[in-house]
Amino acid sequence: MAAGFKSGWYTVKLFSGFVLRGHFAMENVSVIKQLHLERTGTAPEMFLAPGRVNLIGEHTDYADGFVMPAAIDFATIAAISPRADKQAVVYSKNFSEEVERPLDGIGTRGSHHWSDYPLGVLAILQQEGMAVPGFDLTLYGDVPLGAGLSSSASIEVAAMLAMLHVAGVSLPPEKVAQLCQRAENQYVGAPCGIMDQFVSCCGAADHALLLDCRSLQYRLAPIPKHLSIVICNTMVKHSHAGGEYVTRRVEVEEGTAVLRGHRPEIRLLRDATVEDLEKWGHEMRPDVLKRCRHIITENIRTVAAADALEANDLALLGRLMAEAHISYRDDFEASCKEADVMVELAWKQPGCVGARLTGGGFGGCTVNLVESAKAEKFAAVIAMEYENATGIHPEIYLSYASAGAHAIEEAANTGAER
Ligand code: ADP
Ligand code: MG
Repeated sequence: MAAGFKSGWYTVKLFSGFVLRGHFAMENVSVIKQLHLERTGTAPEMFLAPGRVNLIGEHTDYADGFVMPAAIDFATIAAISPRADKQAVVYSKNFSEEVERPLDGIGTRGSHHWSDYPLGVLAILQQEGMAVPGFDLTLYGDVPLGAGLSSSASIEVAAMLAMLHVAGVSLPPEKVAQLCQRAENQYVGAPCGIMDQFVSCCGAADHALLLDCRSLQYRLAPIPKHLSIVICNTMVKHSHAGGEYVTRRVEVEEGTAVLRGHRPEIRLLRDATVEDLEKWGHEMRPDVLKRCRHIITENIRTVAAADALEANDLALLGRLMAEAHISYRDDFEASCKEADVMVELAWKQPGCVGARLTGGGFGGCTVNLVESAKAEKFAAVIAMEYENATGIHPEIYLSYASAGAHAIEEAANTGAER
């Protein structure tokens, strides 16, 4: 950490054409603080909420299963101060745009604008009966927007911590996550699960978070300090992704119904076992059987991956991530040729512990656990070979598992010492 930086974080450093590194330095926090001061004439309180990457556990959330994401060191900062009037004034430095609304005119649905995220958070807090006063809010994030690293959860959580502060309310992080999910589901209109907001709130430096999507109980599993999380953006998102997502949901429900016919206690695939599938899978259409097999085995792999981290068994972790990718590719059929190229390149690189396609599928990012000493070389080789193979210039983000959302004054010793 550079001398004179009191508490870590915050500078987006573009150190080559294709690699972005998180790790905002304290001076960037100062920039947002200064910007807020210039806009409003008032010194703000500052909050930060990270984006996330899912290490393993894909399409298990809506089956009430397990996911294991980590918060990353790309984040949104929210600077807030109360206003004397009853106006909500929100500015995003990313969009260089301000939106102003009366507190009693927030409504219940957004308007397909970036401000839906902070205003949705406000709407939910109002629905919860919280008296949020008028405020000025300045937002800035370095989570790449729309890249699958959940800039949406990070802006929601940062905005919610800020608004709770001016309302004088404190809530447990699990509750903040649930309210932010509601804002995204109801106000923004995006049917996301709880994972993104949950890990943005409850993540911990140098840890992955194994989340039980049914009970919302979680445990933290240590990621060895010598590993980096390298996220490689294929820069493709195939247009059939939305339709395929709906088809997968229908197929999974169809398969679950078959198993439920034999064992009524199977509410969702979380309750089913490989043995159930062996006994009754032949009653399913072949594609349905494959979708169910992915989810049932992915749940097992995800819990095993947390155990592997706890046992510091990195070889096992890598195998589980590879099996997860193959299952996602062959059984769930949610990969694509660009993602397969990216992952297969990673598997061959020195220092790569594990690699797989992460996120909803049909493009997006791969997640790679890589020895930090070899991470920059890894990024350079992957970028070059991916471009040679596909003609597409990728973006690569070097990151590591970071602390969950917090007030920035509390940022000291949260894993920023790198
Ligand atoms: P992802 O969560 O994968 O980044 P989403 O489509 O779910 O992608 O969310 C991205 C949207 O969130 C952006 O298009 C924008 O509307 C909003 N958003 C995220 N961060 C910011 C920000 N710093 N300022 C304004 N809007 C933001
Ligand atoms: Mg999102």
